Amino acid sequence: MKFYNLKHKDEKISFKEASIKGQGTDKGLFFPEVIPAFDEKFLQNLTELSDEEIAYQCMKDFVGDEMPEEVLRKICAETISFDIPVKKVNDNISVLELFHGPTLAFKDVGARFMSRSLGYFLKDEKRKVTVLVATSGDTGGAVANGFYGVEGVKVVILYPKNRVSPVQEKQLTALGKNIHALEVDGSFDDCQRLVKQTFSDENINQKLLLTSANSINIARWLPQQIYYVLALKQWLKNEKNKPIIAVPSGNFGNICAGILAFHRGLPVEHFIAACNVNDVVPEYLRTQKLVPKETVSTLSNAMDVGDPSNFVRILELFHQEFSHVKNMLSGYTVGDEQTLETIKSVEDEFGYTLDPHGAVAYFALEKYISEYGGKGIFLETAHPVKFPEAIEKATGKNPEVPLVLAELMKQEKVTTEINPDFEELKRFLLKN
Ligand SMILES: *Cc1c(COP(=O)(O)O)cnc(C)c1O
Repeated sequence: MKFYNLKHKDEKISFKEASIKGQGTDKGLFFPEVIPAFDEKFLQNLTELSDEEIAYQCMKDFVGDEMPEEVLRKICAETISFDIPVKKVNDNISVLELFHGPTLAFKDVGARFMSRSLGYFLKDEKRKVTVLVATSGDTGGAVANGFYGVEGVKVVILYPKNRVSPVQEKQLTALGKNIHALEVDGSFDDCQRLVKQTFSDENINQKLLLTSANSINIARWLPQQIYYVLALKQWLKNEKNKPIIAVPSGNFGNICAGILAFHRGLPVEHFIAACNVNDVVPEYLRTQKLVPKETVSTLSNAMDVGDPSNFVRILELFHQEFSHVKNMLSGYTVGDEQTLETIKSVEDEFGYTLDPHGAVAYFALEKYISEYGGKGIFLETAHPVKFPEAIEKATGKNPEVPLVLAELMKQEKVTTEINPDFEELKRFLLKN
C-alpha cells in the first residue's frame, strides 16, 4: 500500500519508506491511500481467533508485500506478547488495561512494532542506523525498550537531567547494549532543539542514517488498532451492544487508531476524546474551530499537548466533514481536581486503582453514559505506580509496585552527561 502526505497529496511513498522517513515534506503526516475494510468473516469470528492472528489481520493490508508474511506474523506476535485484558469495573464501565508491557505504558505496543519493522527494513543498510529521540518521560522508555537488542540499530535518547521521574530515568538508562542515554544539563526543549539541529546537519547525515521514533510515524500509529480489536474480541464474549470507547488523549495518535479500526468495520458505538485542560479538540467539537493553545502542565502529563499532531488524520478519516466527526466523537475536558476525585471515588467504590490518565477517561465515560446511556470501555494507558504522588494525594495510599519495576529499580544507571550544546552532541554521535 502507498501512503500520501496530508500536506502534499501527490507525495506518495511505501510503508517501508514512510516508516523510515517518519514524516513528509513540510512535516506532513502520512496517511494510507485506502482504508481497507476488515473481512466480514474476520469480524464474525473475532471471539474465536487468536490474538496473534488478529494482530496480523490488522496490519497485513498496510504492510502488503514489503515484508514476508512470516516476518510480519512474528513482529505482530512480539508486539502484543503481554496481557491486554478487558476488566469490568462496574455494571456499565469496563477498562482495557494497556499497561502490562515492559515499560508499563501503552506506548510499548507502537514502539515494539516500529522498532522491529525498522530493524527488518534496515538490515541491509550500509550506513549505521541511529534512532535519535528527545524525551520528557514515557516515549523514551518505550522506544528504548522496543529497540533493545535490535541488530543494526543504535538508539540515542536525550533527556533533561533531573526532570524525569526516577522510574522513567531507570527505563532509559539501565538497558545498555545498543541503547545510549544522554543526560542533558538543560530542559526538554533543549533536548528537542538538539535533535532537530542534528536532523538538519549535513555532515552528520552523510555519515549516519538518522531516523526518528516520533509518535506520528505510521509504524507506531497503525499497530495501535490492534488493541481496539482485541478489546472487542473480549467485549463480544459477554455483551450484545457496541461499546462506547473513551480514550485519554494528548497527541491523538491512540484514539485516531481506534477510529481507523472503526472505519474498517469494527463495531463501536461512539468515541470519547478525554482530555485534561489541554483541550484543543473538545473545544473544536464545541466551536468547530481548531485553535492550538499553549501547553499547560497537569497531573496527566503525557496528555499535556497544546497542538495535537494526529488530529488531522482524524479529520481525513471523516473526509473533513464536521457533522460526521461530531456524530462519532465527543470531547470532555477534565481538570486535575476532578481527576483526583475520580481516582479516589473509583478506588473507594469499586476497589480499582486508576492512574491520572485513565481517571480522565473514566470521568468522561461516566459523564457520557449518565447523559446518553449505554455501556463502555475506557483505556488505561499507564500503570498507576508510575504516578505515585498523584495516587497518594488522591487516596492516601501508595500503589503496589509490580515485580518488573522492583527489578528495574535495582539496576544501575548508565548515562553520558552533556551540556545543551550541539557540538558536544555531534562529537558523541560521530565517535560512538
Ligand atoms: C502518550 C500517552 C497518552 C496520550 O496518547 P496520544 O496518542 O498522544 O493521544 C495518554 N496516556 C499516557 C500514559 C501516555 O503515555
